[in-house]
Amino acid sequence: MPTPLDPSTDPAQNPALDPRRLRPEDWRALLSPLEYAILRESATERAGTGRYLSDPGPGAFHCAGCGARLYSADHKFHAGCGWPSFWDEVEPGALRTVVDRSHWMVRTEMRCARCEGHLGHIFDDAPQTPTGQRHCVNGYAVLWVPAGAEVAATFAAHRRDPGRAGV
Ligand SMILES: [Zn+2]
Repeated sequence: MPTPLDPSTDPAQNPALDPRRLRPEDWRALLSPLEYAILRESATERAGTGRYLSDPGPGAFHCAGCGARLYSADHKFHAGCGWPSFWDEVEPGALRTVVDRSHWMVRTEMRCARCEGHLGHIFDDAPQTPTGQRHCVNGYAVLWVPAGAEVAATFAAHRRDPGRAGV
């Protein structure tokens, strides 16, 4: 039975499977408190405290909320900013950007295009990368799925024990 949290489902084809319809209490039941604060309330984890500051290995980083694939490990680089950094989304359309005018700044916020989960911000301060961009991602907003591993199984293990992915 497909659910809105099965990333292989297409909400455009079946609106009942659109994760944007989930209620706050649905997300709270699903996510760890930190994941919820970041993805659903646009919080930011403190620099240097999140997941994936070091490279966990080849694979992909998926939205910790809805499971959509967002970043390839091949696009990860070390910016030294205290958050995992990527220079591009895994494929066009994986992310949605919005202008964020909070905290007296104008920044480009990025969200998961599938569930609208807050991920972090994009900065044009990475000339060492092919795009010049630094996608500054909260580590707790994403979940690494090792190359060759099953997405559903990786998520199921993580939901049972959210601390396990804290590499
Ligand atoms: Zn998502």
